[in-house]
Amino acid sequence: MNFKAAVWPAMLLTHVLGMHQGLAQEAAARDDLQQQRVAPFQVFDNLYYVGARWVSAWLLETDQGLILFDSLYGDLVDLAVDGIRELGFDPDDVRYVIVSHAHYDHAGGAQRFQRDFGAVVLMIEADWQLSEGEPDFREYPRPMRHLSLGNGDTLNLGRTRLRFLQTPGHTRGVLSTVFTVYDGGYPHTAVMFGGAGLNFEGADRLRMYIDSVGQLLSVPGVEVNIPNHPAFGDVFARNELLQQHQDGDPHPFVDPESWIAWLELLRGDAQTRLDAELAAN
Ligand SMILES: [Zn+2]
Repeated sequence: MNFKAAVWPAMLLTHVLGMHQGLAQEAAARDDLQQQRVAPFQVFDNLYYVGARWVSAWLLETDQGLILFDSLYGDLVDLAVDGIRELGFDPDDVRYVIVSHAHYDHAGGAQRFQRDFGAVVLMIEADWQLSEGEPDFREYPRPMRHLSLGNGDTLNLGRTRLRFLQTPGHTRGVLSTVFTVYDGGYPHTAVMFGGAGLNFEGADRLRMYIDSVGQLLSVPGVEVNIPNHPAFGDVFARNELLQQHQDGDPHPFVDPESWIAWLELLRGDAQTRLDAELAAN
């Protein structure tokens, strides 16, 4: 009895500490500039990756300047700034930063793009409020309130037009964007789902998420998934295929079936969690 009483809590403690250490190491690797460095690369005529290993930043080129999707955070903001320069662009030409949602990994660099490069930051209203209140995971430099978006709003920059959808669940103000990418001048409809992660709870939010995925599934003719975390769309594996790709081969990012399949999978996972939450109550 004494043995058990003494040993079990100690084993449990080691296990818990071990887990925490693992998580801490993982978090440290995520925040480390060198471990997160990815050489920036072009994916379409008008779209480039300037993000990190675990979280995305995408640069859209227009005839009237640049649009940045998400801003990274902490030391990783340098990846986006350096990447823009390495690709031959000027960060001062970033006109807009579109923040997919107000968590630190997407919104953490927004203030720097406002302050250092004069960019205008866009978010859904509910996520402006989140950015001004108690942070969900981590603090980050709060951006000044610029443009607040709602469902169905559009933005024109030169000949480029973006259409926005409010797709809540992951946060209450998740911003998804529908836009056009070009491959050798040939247009394809692309979507960024601004908050795919199912790391939240509550039947209310899960129902919102399921509706949001339904809204995205109803966007006609989507051929390209531009994810705000690379793992959500096999970005690096597709880029490897792109590097070997010959003229006339299908573009590895043009993959309408996997867009639909991914959304169906997310909807199924969310429904399973919702059913479990409802059964538990
Ligand atoms: Zn998030």
